[in-house]
Amino acid sequence: MQAVRGMNDILPDAVHWWQKVETTARQVLELYGYREIRTPIVEKLELFARSIGESTDIVEKEMYAFPDRKGQWLALRPEATASVVRAFIEHNLQADPSVRKFYTIGPMFRHERPQKGRYRQFHQIDAEVFGIDDPLLDAEVMAMLCDFLQRIGLKDIGLHVNSLGCSKCRPLFRDDLKAFLQDRASQLCPDCDRRRHVNPLRVFDCKVDRCREALTEAPELGRYLCEACRRHFDKVLHYLSHLHVPYAVDPRMVRGLDYYMRTTFEVITDRLGAQNAVGGGGRYDGLMRDLGGPDLPGIGFAIGMERVILLLQQEESLDFKKPDVFIAILGEKPVTEAFRLAQDLRGQGVAVELAHGGGSLKSQMRRADKLGASYVVIVGEEELAKGRVTVRHMAAKEQTEIALENVVTFLAAHGTSKNT
Ligand code: AMP
Repeated sequence: MQAVRGMNDILPDAVHWWQKVETTARQVLELYGYREIRTPIVEKLELFARSIGESTDIVEKEMYAFPDRKGQWLALRPEATASVVRAFIEHNLQADPSVRKFYTIGPMFRHERPQKGRYRQFHQIDAEVFGIDDPLLDAEVMAMLCDFLQRIGLKDIGLHVNSLGCSKCRPLFRDDLKAFLQDRASQLCPDCDRRRHVNPLRVFDCKVDRCREALTEAPELGRYLCEACRRHFDKVLHYLSHLHVPYAVDPRMVRGLDYYMRTTFEVITDRLGAQNAVGGGGRYDGLMRDLGGPDLPGIGFAIGMERVILLLQQEESLDFKKPDVFIAILGEKPVTEAFRLAQDLRGQGVAVELAHGGGSLKSQMRRADKLGASYVVIVGEEELAKGRVTVRHMAAKEQTEIALENVVTFLAAHGTSKNT
């Protein structure tokens, strides 16, 4: 049996990267006042169709959707925003004004063609803020995203920013884009030829070369922004500059989901080949209302954890947690005493690996060495009869006999220093 294509096991040798990324994300998010929320992986299909948009690639082609045993259509979540908004509405979280910022970390599912950096089950760190319509927040959200990437140790990441306008100004752009695409219809791929009628902005997402070429002289959204959207965007850029967050305005960045409006952004790398987006997000002020909730503005982003980890692995190597102490056991009799000692040490926060299955002292020492234990405690029959054990410091290659009753105190003081 093999795992499903595009869905990866995260093996023990890689998992410490995941832990590092998650721990840093939690620290940074909580520093900025975000609270964790966890929503189910399965939702009603309609939630994603209505929020992400019927004519997006995600909903049209990539969703894992299936009827359950009663015929209700469900889907594995392809992203987290819709679920967090649904939970906010369902539990009337609006009633508690102290909680406006949320984060969630977990797997998402999209049936894309797998390649390096693109999988069918992937993981996102997702942040969402509701109820604040302030360009300062847009800048803060982007600053936090960059802060996280910097703290985790990623270099050479570019922040791209754009404004998608609002329901007032975007239709004008849409009409002009439609007319522009009509003139180039013969150049477009069959998908884009269809998209230009139903959702022309989505043509900007297309990766097909001839569609990209067709768009080189396409109208730019930035020129269509209404006064309010222009002011909002100018302020966002002003705050970013003021905070010395480097950014580039990218007028062609539309993002692959329909709910975005005004500020959108992506963090881009040139070190991952075709999968160059590490994270992205934007404002979605009408989404909560469209999903049947209060008319509260929203903004958020998602970071792709696999891509962050691929980048980190290019830059440094991480050591896994090694045991502080390995307990070698010589003979049958000392087994129970060794087990008790292991439990006492663990009780004091010392990480212990017990020699299971015995073997010669030499083979046990070899195993301790391989595991990278700092100390080995040798529990042998004869010494134990005298109430003593041998403690060996592996790096110094020095060993001493210690009274059994002093071992825990000694190792609790010395044994954990390396690893904690
Ligand atoms: P999106 O929800 O499409 O805005 O994606 C946000 C981030 O999630 C992207 O910038 C990627 O880092 C990551 N991501 C999206 N789709 C995939 C995928 N199929 N495999 C791995 N990472 C992904």
